[in-house]
Order: sequence, then C-alpha cells, then structure tokens
Amino acid sequence: MTLGNALLDGQAVDITLRDGLIADVAPHGPCAPDIDAHGLSVYPGLRNMHCHAPMVLFRGLGDDQPLDRWLNDYIWPAERELTDRRVYEGTLQACREMLAGGITFFNDMYFRLPAMARAVEESGIRARLGLNVFGDADELDDPAIRALLGQSSANVAYSIAPHSVYTVSERGLLRSAEACRDLGLPMHIHMSETLKEVDDCLRLHGCRPWELLERIGILDMLGSNIIAAHCLHLSDREVELIGRHGITCVHCPNSNLKLGSGYRFPLLELLQAGAKVALGTDGAASSNNLDLLEAMKTSALLQKGWRGDPTVVPAGQALAIATQDHTIAPGQPADLFLAPARSTSDLVYATHGESVALTLVGGRVVHSRL
Ligand SMILES: [Zn+2]
Repeated sequence: MTLGNALLDGQAVDITLRDGLIADVAPHGPCAPDIDAHGLSVYPGLRNMHCHAPMVLFRGLGDDQPLDRWLNDYIWPAERELTDRRVYEGTLQACREMLAGGITFFNDMYFRLPAMARAVEESGIRARLGLNVFGDADELDDPAIRALLGQSSANVAYSIAPHSVYTVSERGLLRSAEACRDLGLPMHIHMSETLKEVDDCLRLHGCRPWELLERIGILDMLGSNIIAAHCLHLSDREVELIGRHGITCVHCPNSNLKLGSGYRFPLLELLQAGAKVALGTDGAASSNNLDLLEAMKTSALLQKGWRGDPTVVPAGQALAIATQDHTIAPGQPADLFLAPARSTSDLVYATHGESVALTLVGGRVVHSRL
C-alpha cells in the first residue's frame, strides 16, 4: 500500500507500506497512491502509556472528588458490578476512541483481561494489558493466570500491575515483581501520585514509596522493566534511584490536574538522571477523554508554566515523548496517523485528537475520516 503526498517534517513524501512495516519513504513524485494524503502530515502513532480502557464506562462518575473518596465511594463500588461483557464493551469503545485520536498503542492496567484482549484484537489497536493486583497478589499463584500472562500476539501483550504501594502489601509487591521476572514481563504501577500516598508510606513503612520498592528488592530485580504512572511527588534521592535504574515514568497531566494531585512532574530532572519519560491519559473516569494530543499540549504547557521558562519541552520533544521516539522510517512498524497540521508546532499546540484523519496499525486502516 502507498500513502501519497504526505507531509513529513514539512517535505512532501510517498510512503510505501509492506507486511505491516514501512518499506520506503521517498520524495513525492508521480504515483497513483492507495491513499492520497495531500494536505495532511504524517506522524508516528501516539503511545498512551497509562490507561484503564474500560473506565470509559465511568466517564463523569464522581467528578470533582479527591482521589481517595473518588476511588472508595465511586469507582471501586462501580467496578464490583462489572461483567466480562461490560469490560469488553468498554474496552472496545476506548480502543476506537484512541484510534480516532492517533493512538496506536496503549499500556493498560485493569482486570478481566481476556475480555479486554478480545476487544483489542477486534479494534486493531496494539496494547499491553496489565493484570491489576491488590493485597497479597494471591491470584498470581493461579496457573491459568500465569498461562494467560505468558501469551502474546501481534496486537496484545501482558504485564503485571500491582495497583500501588498503598493498596498492595509488601508481600504482594514482591510476588508481583518475582512473577514479572519469571515470566519476562514489565511491571506497571501507580507511584507517588499524591502527597497523602507519600505521607502514609512514611508513616506505615518508615520510608518513601520508591525507597520501599528499593528495600523490597524490586528495583534491582526489574530495573528498566518498570513503568510507573504519575511520579509527581519525588525526593531528589527518588529521582536518582529512578534514573539509575532506567525506569519509565508516565506523566498523566489531565488526570493529575483534575484530581488535584499535583502538577510539578519533574520531567527534566528525571531525564537528566537517566529515566525515561512517557505520556498517558489515565482512564476516562479521571481524564474524561482519551485524547493524547490534548495531554501532550497540557504536559508541555505545565513544564513551561511551573518553571517560568517557555523554552523547556519544545514541540519536537513533546512529540518524541508522546511517540516514545518512534519515527517514520523504513523498517519501522507501519503504525502512524495523518492530521491536518503543517508542522510539529501545529500538531502539539493547535490540533485536537478529533482532527486526526487516518490511523494505521501494522499497515491496516483502523480509523478513517478521509
Ligand atoms: Zn491510573
């Protein structure tokens, strides 16, 4: 398949896709493309690195409440009523919303994973589905769950997702990490989201959340195979620990702002220390939409705002974070989207997810407004 006359970094190009990959990128010339991208720019697919896809079912539930009340009084009671069918329906809706906004991969954390996997495959998006565990993580002893987590396809892979240090015991955290090590999977966890989480950890464990993971041995065990959402309230020592282990920290600016959790995500400090930084929407119950272009703009503006420095996180860096440094180049997966932006600046500061014209995953059209 060919995409003709698309703008790539301002240059008109023709892109040939073959076997799910980008086969060739050439200056635009006479051709009869399968898709005429005239007037549209092409970008690597966005990667939503922290999500709870089925929570589109709870959009607007418990708006404007603090995190602990929002979870205890609204979200967790509603989740107890969920069925496989509802989780499948919610995931499918979320996948379609994400594809329509240029997202080609999402990193999730939830439960009823087989129902989620069915929806992911049906939609054509790619995902890594994290098994959410709480308490002592007893479900990790279940051979059927271990067998599921060991599977993968072109579109679906798995991780283990202990919810947080305030909902999972030390034993549960250690078992999760050991299962990740044994199965060769990443760990996906919420970390340092609120000041209350840090204060409670200090009171209960005598140390800060990242120091707890260090003490249990998880940082040395998994290193860069940890993906941590939020990471808003970090000491200098925690930033150093995260950086030394090459951990990925996911900024979810809209969710953090709406829940009043904080806004000083230490993006530059984490990068300087050696950590990786990614971008997430979080679930649609806390961010209300799954628009990663919106999150990209909010994230960049917040850095400029709280630091009082408009030069930090320029548009190109914001896009690199949102795509995890993927590029449009031969040999790369044909996961990309087209949008009516004339430049990267246009995309980051002036484009909404609903403007995305076309999304391809593995060379297959999975969303089109053309
Ligand atoms: Zn979350």
